[in-house]
Amino acid sequence: MSEQRVSMQDRDIFTDDHRAIRQTVRRFAESLAPHAEEWDHDGIFPREVFKRAGDLGLLGIGHDPASGGLGLDWWYTVCYAEELVRSHNAGLNMALMVQSDMATPIIGELGSDEVKRNFLAPAIAGDMISALGVSEPGGGSDVAAIRTTARRDGDDYVINGQKLWITNGTRADFITLAVRTGDDGYGGISLLVFPTDTKGYSVGKKLSKIGNKSSDTAELFFDDCRVPVRYRLGDENMGFYHIMTNFQGERLIAAVAAVAGMELAVRDAIRYGSERKAFGRPITRFQVWKHKLVEHLTAIEAARRLTYFAVDKFVKQPKNAVREITMAKLFAGDLMQRVLYDCMQMYGGFGYTTEYPIARAWTDARLITIGGGTSEVMKEILSKIEGL
Ligand SMILES: Cc1cc2nc3c(=O)[nH]c(=O)nc-3n(C[C@H](O)[C@H](O)[C@H](O)COP(=O)(O)OP(=O)(O)OC[C@H]3O[C@@H](n4cnc5c(N)ncnc54)[C@H](O)[C@@H]3O)c2cc1C
Repeated sequence: MSEQRVSMQDRDIFTDDHRAIRQTVRRFAESLAPHAEEWDHDGIFPREVFKRAGDLGLLGIGHDPASGGLGLDWWYTVCYAEELVRSHNAGLNMALMVQSDMATPIIGELGSDEVKRNFLAPAIAGDMISALGVSEPGGGSDVAAIRTTARRDGDDYVINGQKLWITNGTRADFITLAVRTGDDGYGGISLLVFPTDTKGYSVGKKLSKIGNKSSDTAELFFDDCRVPVRYRLGDENMGFYHIMTNFQGERLIAAVAAVAGMELAVRDAIRYGSERKAFGRPITRFQVWKHKLVEHLTAIEAARRLTYFAVDKFVKQPKNAVREITMAKLFAGDLMQRVLYDCMQMYGGFGYTTEYPIARAWTDARLITIGGGTSEVMKEILSKIEGL
């Protein structure tokens, strides 16, 4: 009933065309769901999933049709991120979204025709896999501390250094890479497209994680790797600014996916608790659980409204929505920890087995307050905005 109420309210936001994309993504995600446990166990999912997503247009929703994208507004991305949670596989969802919305938008914005033709178009089609390479062992939250260098030598950059935590890292065909081209600090960073068949490049170990297991997360090494200067994205030493701008879409996706993931977990818990009996009655008949569930649904609705408010601002004024986006990620990410903890608790021992999606969802959710900027970093940004 409440799902229906939400969609009634949102009728002024979502058109029939949005709903059509929603249906496409839902069918796609539901077709992946039966493999979730297996792919988490394998620590990877088949490469062909990228191709299937590409064929459906999902890897280019917001991208320019000239590069094979659909050229649609960000509310379509909301539909994509919300429905993808039905795959019950956060790792796979993250891998796809890194491709569609984190590694490639900046190429669409700043890449040359050659770069768009050779990297962006195949990524949108699902023929190439992309990664975003910003974080390093010594610089995650502190992006300005990155140390991977790109020294200019004629028409090339010569790259040396290391990246860590890179999603899609073991099999990316190219990386949208942050490198140091200038002085220490935020003013000396540039972005470029790095093809992974470049000599001197190697993938270190694939990291063993507690959640998002079906996505590969890798450490990467660069040893005198030569990349043409024309693969640079935007002006030299302007990379920090572009990374921060790029973060806005990433953080908004995190908030949207968190809200949808929480709602799905609560709905599943209600279904489970209505069937599972203890002391002669369904778990959901105990007042403590009824109250917990409606409290969570209330908070989720608040998180959704804040997130939609941020999306609206982002659509209307893309460069001026930092406050709202930061609040949405902070609020939804922190809330998700409490909501999933309680949902898992409701399953008792079954919630502790990986056969039930809730166990995986609980560990997957832990990433939301860490990746794409931690909750503490969100608070630092907001403190600055508020002049504190
Ligand atoms: C599964 C996974 C996938 C990832 N994928 C990618 C990817 O594809 N590409 C990529 O570039 N990166 C990726 N990351 C990296 C991610 O963005 C970083 O892990 C994150 O930004 C935090 O950086 P860090 O791990 O270095 O933590 P640190 O920066 O070392 O932070 C450690 C702790 O200190 C806190 N802290 C830091 N600064 C402050 C401060 N100013 N005030 C208060 N507290 C502070 C943090 O909040 C945190 O709690 C991924 C990470 C994970 C775990």
